[in-house]
Amino acid sequence: MPDARRRRTKATVKPQVENQQENSSSAPPASHSLLMRYVALIMVSMIGLVLWLLFIQRSGGDSGFGSFKLGALRGAKAPARDDMHKSPFFVADIPGKGMGLLASRKIKQGELLVREMPLFVVPRETTSSPSELVGGLVAQLSKKEQEAFFNLSYVNFPNHLDPDRDRNEVALAIFQTNAVGAGDNVGIFPRMARLNHGCSSAFNAVYSWREKERALYVYALRSINQGEELLTSYGNARQPRRERRARLAEHYGFECQCRVCSMAEEESQASDRRLEAINGAYERFASWGQGHISGTDAIAQVRKIWRLEDEEGYWSERGSLAADATLVAASHSDVLATQQWAELAAEWYAYELGGDSEQVAAMRAVAADGTRHARWKSRGGLVVGGP
Ligand SMILES: [Zn+2]
Repeated sequence: MPDARRRRTKATVKPQVENQQENSSSAPPASHSLLMRYVALIMVSMIGLVLWLLFIQRSGGDSGFGSFKLGALRGAKAPARDDMHKSPFFVADIPGKGMGLLASRKIKQGELLVREMPLFVVPRETTSSPSELVGGLVAQLSKKEQEAFFNLSYVNFPNHLDPDRDRNEVALAIFQTNAVGAGDNVGIFPRMARLNHGCSSAFNAVYSWREKERALYVYALRSINQGEELLTSYGNARQPRRERRARLAEHYGFECQCRVCSMAEEESQASDRRLEAINGAYERFASWGQGHISGTDAIAQVRKIWRLEDEEGYWSERGSLAADATLVAASHSDVLATQQWAELAAEWYAYELGGDSEQVAAMRAVAADGTRHARWKSRGGLVVGGP
């Protein structure tokens, strides 16, 4: 069982996938290409699940939701033990934070950090008690896997329960604290769960789920120096400091002390202003979907977001942003811009999702021939401009 310090540390969840989801939902509705739907689906399932499980726990452990297929629950077992000697990181005790991951050598931007199968997954809907459900799945794990599971941190454990006696409730608390979206399910990934959180420009690792492989991938968003901590983002990394710290404290039980949250007041305000301007530009960009702004203006918003993110040092979600710009350019049948944005999207998708991801392949195909884009020529012809 985690000690109190670990509990405060909390580990895991939301990030990258969620960021991408937010990103795609703020993108033009017309961008509901297969690609964007795919990303949205990941996100929706993740949030829905976690919220739902929280809800049923608070309402006494019973739920009247849908049917429940216990037999299909058990996910693939943990992957063949990776060769840890090759690992670019190691687990360490981080002062003030509990456990975390430190780079064991210099890590390149776009380098694969973790490929992990879930210890187990839980479906979206169940009529069972969530604590019995999770407790039952944990009971089916090997001793070693159970050890890995119970070593994870947790928060929000009901005061009236005894963690030494109510083991299913502990299992549920661990699940709720550490679960990550895995397609239509949510799963537990003990290695990935060791990633601590960083806000805005502070996080350097992002994760995504590949449905075909039923595996979670974590990539280095930027180059990472030896000894530097690997950090990902738990949720919306573009909120102003006050809001994101309040959310992290409520959901994960820690006061964020990341580099961005620790900035001096003036510097922090400048960061908040940039983040708000980025969010505003995303909103305006999204209004292209309803035809409220021109394609030229939409592309101007993307360029603005890119510039502000350079200033902020925030690099996440650039693959999907450039893919959305590709969609705008293709819709207006701007051949050159379509090619350029698609190349940029492929480059940044490769950093975040892997060079062999479906998203990269899709963008490379569009870069080679813009007319293959699903939205090609769906709006009036216009030179919208490239990156
Ligand atoms: Zn922070």
